[in-house]
This record gives sequence, structure tokens and C-alpha cells, in this order.
Amino acid sequence: MGTKSAADIDAWLRDGGLVVTASDRAARALGTAFNRSRLAEGLTAWPAPHILDWKSFVRSTWENLSYDGRLLLNPAQEQALWARIAGESQHMATLLEGPRHRLASLAMEAHSLLAAYVPRLLRSSARAAWQQDAAAFSGWLIAFDEACRAGTLISPNRLPLELIQLLTTDQTTRPPLVLAGFDRILPVQRSLFDAWGTWSETAASNAAGAVHYYEASDTKTELTACALWCSRQLAANPQARLLVITQDASKRRGEIERAFLKHTSSHDSASPLFEFSLGIPLSQVALPQAAHMLLRWLTGPPGEQKLAEQELDWLISTGHAAASQQESLALQARMRALRRRGQERTHWSFADFAGSSNSLPRAWVERMAQAQRHLDGFARRPQRPIDWAEFVPKLLEAVGWPGYRPLSSAEYQALHRWGQAVEAAGSLGFDGRRIPWQEFLSALRRILDETLFAPESHDAPIQIAGPAESAGLTADAVWFLGANEDTWPAGGSMHPLLPFEVQREAGMPHATPLLDLELARTMTMRLLAAAPEVHFSYSRQCQGSEARPSRLIVEFAGSPEPLPSELYAPAAQRPLTVLVEDASRVPFQLGEAAGGASILTYQSQCPFKAFATARLDAKGWEPAEAGLTAAQRGQLLHAVLHSIWAGPPNGIRSLSELQDLADLGCFVTERVRCVFAGEISGGLRERMPRRYLELEELRLTRLVTEWLEYEAARQPFTVADTEVDSTVAIAGLTLKLRLDRVDRLNDDSLLVIDYKSGDVSPSSWDLPRPDDVQLPLYAGFALSGVLGGLVFAKVRAGNHAFAGKVGDAKATLLGDLTGNSALVKSPLTAEQLIDWRSCIEQLAKDFLAGRAEVDPRDYPTTCERCDLQTLCRMQENEALLVCADDTEGEVVADE
Ligand code: SF4
Repeated sequence: MGTKSAADIDAWLRDGGLVVTASDRAARALGTAFNRSRLAEGLTAWPAPHILDWKSFVRSTWENLSYDGRLLLNPAQEQALWARIAGESQHMATLLEGPRHRLASLAMEAHSLLAAYVPRLLRSSARAAWQQDAAAFSGWLIAFDEACRAGTLISPNRLPLELIQLLTTDQTTRPPLVLAGFDRILPVQRSLFDAWGTWSETAASNAAGAVHYYEASDTKTELTACALWCSRQLAANPQARLLVITQDASKRRGEIERAFLKHTSSHDSASPLFEFSLGIPLSQVALPQAAHMLLRWLTGPPGEQKLAEQELDWLISTGHAAASQQESLALQARMRALRRRGQERTHWSFADFAGSSNSLPRAWVERMAQAQRHLDGFARRPQRPIDWAEFVPKLLEAVGWPGYRPLSSAEYQALHRWGQAVEAAGSLGFDGRRIPWQEFLSALRRILDETLFAPESHDAPIQIAGPAESAGLTADAVWFLGANEDTWPAGGSMHPLLPFEVQREAGMPHATPLLDLELARTMTMRLLAAAPEVHFSYSRQCQGSEARPSRLIVEFAGSPEPLPSELYAPAAQRPLTVLVEDASRVPFQLGEAAGGASILTYQSQCPFKAFATARLDAKGWEPAEAGLTAAQRGQLLHAVLHSIWAGPPNGIRSLSELQDLADLGCFVTERVRCVFAGEISGGLRERMPRRYLELEELRLTRLVTEWLEYEAARQPFTVADTEVDSTVAIAGLTLKLRLDRVDRLNDDSLLVIDYKSGDVSPSSWDLPRPDDVQLPLYAGFALSGVLGGLVFAKVRAGNHAFAGKVGDAKATLLGDLTGNSALVKSPLTAEQLIDWRSCIEQLAKDFLAGRAEVDPRDYPTTCERCDLQTLCRMQENEALLVCADDTEGEVVADE
């Protein structure tokens, strides 16, 4: 439908004519265009246009003409019926609920294809020769027809066929129809329109005057070019209507949203300038998702359902599970406390969570517990789905859902759709069944997954749609993304439950490559007629492989040309934030900072990181693991080594004592056992299988035994101290330090040791911005005595080593070191100690002065090891960093 046709349809509708569209999206688009035209004419009120989408047209006409009282199945009911029939077939694939419902969906599709393309095959005798899976489907179809007859039910797929008969016998005069947005008219549709009477299709208007085909290097560049093009179009004509076509809008939705927000954002508009014509599953919308999660969580034993910790964290953070802000804050505080106390779990039942602390809001616990008891009582026996559907809103209301916050317009719409989904689940009792709670919950989840939700259109100037969904949409200009040889024409597979020859003969979707080509050609021509200006694009690199231009598009638009230079993103994007020089600093007044040496390590890595952790108490959020976390394993290793080197009565204190041990393996086994007995809390023991902890004990025993064998080859030493606590004052900043171990070497000097099980290197101490200052800090400020060296003890299976700086490593640490060893080649020097000391003092002064700029030492590596991105919003402001880098030279020169 081009400009001319749009005017024709507009005039037709204004005169009260009826238009039938291929989809409800096309009906909405047509209605919006009609209303816009009336507004442009200066009208303030006008009769509603008579537009019906295909399904509504069929249904309303059937309801007007048919009086036999059969129940029209909704999608959930029809799928349940197919699932029951498939389940009764005792096929292996139908024994489990998930596969059974997937098969039911396939059977629904096959039924719909037969009804639309070859209705004669709905007669069972015509399918007698079908074999294998097709024969199984044929049997299900017979059972489906019988069930519909017995239950006086009718599938929506049969309505057009029934309607054709009704129209043929009905003598009423019917108004002429105009069809809009049909890429192809299916055989059943053609028969129905013929039976209706007079009908016509909208004439295709002239093809676009300007057609371009662009080639981009990769998908990101292509998407950016499209967003920039939209932005330029709207800058030139703010009233322009733009249509962006993409084939994988659901998969790339986030990426598309980010690109369009970045390049088309407007300071004048509160809402984005774009909208997707296709919604997202209701199960991914926060309000219904929270409701379903709560219902799952309230399910107590015997079918108790636990929430994964990240699910629970999300649920609590939404506020949809709390009746007041105080309650919500208290629940969030509890989640944080769980982590800080090491009480995290991978999954939480409500009973476990409620029993985990006395600090949970009492009213919340009582409400939830009461709701759980209520549900428990009601769920003792199967109920009618309609009873479950009435019970669910009361249950959710009792626990405080949807929360204390006033709902936004989009949330109200989601709330309404949730209510409809619950009603749809309640309608599953159409066959008189009673179902258990779990089955109702599963059915509700399926309905949420299959219901697409899009908030009411705000008539954004940029509409983003798929090729099929765009039928009936018109615009001032169109951009078609991803038009490469593999994706356009779009391929697909034949239906697995219908014989292939039937599909080929009937011309069903994807039955032959030629059919796909013809459909893609029709859609391409329709898009070319949808706007005066049409752009196609593709990227040479797509999903890691080389792509070629679509031959179909080349046919219409010629060979692809490079993207115009103005459609490339500028080297540094205009930042979303406005750069403001904020030289203000809030000095740290307390003098003593919690966090030990890590504060100054962070100050060196990124001043904001030190500020956020030490002064705002910000912390990262590691997901709970089924086994011990890396941190817990590290703590156990430290505890075992401390226990070994702590000296009598249970440990040892020197190389000679180590070498004198009669049975090193037994000694270590005993130490590890004692540590596990003391360090593994009751909670951890409950959550982890006994055998798993035994294996962890064994692994640690082997690791430490190997390490001690390595240490046994050292030059003589005694352990001066382990797990040493000390307090130091640096330029007015007081820090509490803890060091793993200090050894006295054979020249009476001291060796500072830090145990590490990961990959570390002394290069992390390199000036001017060290990545780690713990050992230099300890060596420079906490040690009394002559420093012999500072080393990482790398305790790693099969790869034990010391790495660091030692005055004379060969004489005091390991006698077998060669001249090529880094320990020998790069010894500790007095100059290094002086430089480290002054660097650390400067870091302390900076911290005290409140220096807190977002300035990662080595972007992006430093940020990849930091959990504070959500606080500093580094990724969002990446462009600022680029700008800062570009002007770094100038800043230095100014200073
Ligand atoms: S993420 Fe990067 S910029 Fe942000 S605080 Fe951490 S280190 Fe600094």
C-alpha cells in the first residue's frame, strides 16, 4: 500500500467502508493513520473507522451467523486439548509435560496449515495413506475432532471453513470489502472472501523513487548507520514516519534498543523516538514475572518450589513483594547481609529464607506464611481451573503484590494482561477437569510465555518491525536491516507432522525454496511500495562468518554500495552525560579506614573504587555457587597454612622441623581435617553433600602437601609470624593490616609472604600506578627489622613457585635458582623501597583528601576485575574516558 493506495483506503474508510487487514498490527496502524489524517484536517471528533483484522472479522461474522452454541476454544484450551490427546498416545516424547506441550503446539500448527491450505485433508479418509509421524498426527486429529464433537467445541482454525458454508446459504446483502496488508491470500481466505461477495485488494502504489543497498563491515556498524540515518531523517523533517525492518527483532532487541537510544535520543521528548511493533513475552515483563515467582515460592511441601538466589534478589529488588517501602528496604538489607555473612545459597525456599534471620519484617513474614498455609490448605486436592483463577488474585493481594509503588501506565497495562492470562488459565476447565496446583502454575507459565505484551503505542516516529509484521504499514522512508543472501529470502524448515509432498503440493510455507523466494519477493515489492525512499543494508561479517549480499535485493536495488560517511558513528560518541569539571573533594575525616591495604590498592587502580568501597561501603555481588566459592577455598587454604606454620603444639615453625616430619602426608591430613572441622559452618555442611566436602578436603591436602615439599627445598628459615595483624599510620591515614606470613631468612633478614592460588606477578607493584600495594605497604610501613624480600607464594597444583623481589634470592630463598630466574635477575633494591614508600604515602594523602575521580588504571582490564560498574556507570560514560585520553597531553602540559 503506497501513497496513492493509502489515500484510497482513507477515503474508503471515511465513507464508512469496511477494511479487513491481515493482522491486528496492520489494523492498528491503519486506524492510527486514519486518525492522524482527521487531526490534520483540523477535526476534533469523527466516527471510528470500520477496520477489522482477519481473525476478528471471521469470529464476529461467525458469531453473527451461527447459533449452534458450540464453545470457541481459546489458544490455551486448544493446546490443552491437543496435549491431552498427545499424552494419551503414550508416545515416548509425550511422557514429560514440556515435550508434550511442545508437540501439542506443533499439532495445532499442523491443524491450522491443513485448514488454511488443504481443507479436504481434514477428512480422516483422505489421510489414510499417511505414515510415521504424519500418521500419528492424523490419529490425534481424529481424536481431536471426536473430542470437539463430544464437548460441543470448535477450533478457531475451523471457523473460516464453517463460515464459507454459512455465507453460501445466507441471503443477506453484505457490504463490499477492501483488504489491506495481505502479502498473500491463503486458499481458505480467498474462498471465504468469494463467499462473502464483493471484495478487492488495495492496489500496489508505485515503487519507491529512491532505493539504496548498503554494505557495512559488521552488524554493529550496520545498526549504527540505520540509527544515525533515522536521526538525520527526523532532524530534517520532525514529522517524518520511519519504518525499520529487522528479521531478528526478538533476539537483537536489547542491542537495537541501545543503538537507537544512543543515536536517536531527543532532549525534547520524554519517551523514546522508536517503538517495536512486536511485544515481548508476558513472562519477561516485571509485574507478571514477579507474580508468578511469588506463586511458585508460596508452594510449600510436598511440591515445594525454591527460587534461585538471583531470582529472589530480583523479586525483592522490584518492590513487588513488599507492602511498604520500609518492608522493601528491610528485605533488600537482608539479602545484602546474607552475602556479607557468607550465608548465601543457590536456592531458597520461603521457609529457609524466613527462618534465616529475626531481622526480616515481621508483618511480611506473617503475611507470606499465612498465604502459604492458605495455599497449602486449598491445594490439598485438585480444584477446577476457574477456582484456581479466582484464588490466585486473592493470594497475591494477601502477600502485598503488586507492591506499594503507584503503577505506571505500562504497568497498569501489564496488570490487565496478567489478569487476562490468569483468566485464560482458568478457562482450562472447559472439559470439566480438576487439576492440581502445580498443573495450574505450569499452564499459567505457558500462557505467560506465549502471550506477547507491548504497551500501548505512543505513535513513535520510528516503528521497528519484522518483514511479515510490517504488512499494512506505510512510512516516509524505510530501512531494511540484515538483507544478506542467507537471511533474505528467509528460509525455514517444513512442518514435521505433515507429509512433505502434501506441503509441497499445497504450497505451504518453506515447502520449497521457490516458495520462500516468491514470498520474499512479494514482501520486498510491498516494502518498496510502502515509502518513497527505501534503504536496504547487510553486513559482510555476520555471526562470525562472511556474508554476501542478497541476490533478491540486488535485483531491485543493484549491487551494494559502501555506507555513506555520514552514517558512521563519530570516533567518540557524544556522551549521554554532560562533562562537568567537578574539582570538589570531600576530605576523609575519620583517620582510620576499614578495608586494610586494599584501600590504597584501589586508590591506585581507580580513585573512585577506593572512595566507593571504603566510604560508601559498596560491594560486589557474587552469585552463590553450588560448591565452595573461590573465596571460601582461599580462606581454607590460608587457614590450613596458618595452622601448619603456627608452631607448637600442633604446627611447625622452621625448615628443619618441616624436614624432620616423619610422615608429611599424615601431618597435613590432620591439619586439614582440623581446619575443616572448625571453619566449615553448620549451614555450609547442610547445603553441601558430605562426599563433596570430603573431596575438597582431599584436594586441599594434596595441594598443601605438594607445597610443603616445594618449601622443603628452601634455604634455612624460621617462621617469624603468620596471620600477622598490625596497625599502621600513613600520612595521617590509619589502616589495619593482616599479612599471611613473615619468615626470618638465613641472613637474619625478613621475608614478607602472601599466599596466592591465582595467577599473580610482581609486575603488579610497578610504579607509577601499582596494581597492588599490599606487600610493598607492609614491607615499608609495618615491618620492624631488616627486609630481605617480599614474595607471592603461588600455591597452585603442579605449578608451585615464589615470585617477587628478594635481596639475594639464591643465597636466602632457593639455592637451585639459575641466573635466568626473575628472582635472581631482578633483586629487591633500596631505591625501590623508597619509591614505593613515597607512592603509597601519596595514595594515602589522595584518599584522605577525597580524591575520587573515575579513572581506571588500565581500562578496560581494571574495570573487568571490578564490580562497581553499576555505580560508576563506566560503560555508559566510556566516551568521556576516550575524550579524556585524547586530551591527556594537554592536561599534563597545563600542570
Ligand atoms: S568499574 Fe572501573 S571505573 Fe568503575 S570504579 Fe571500577 S575500576 Fe573504577
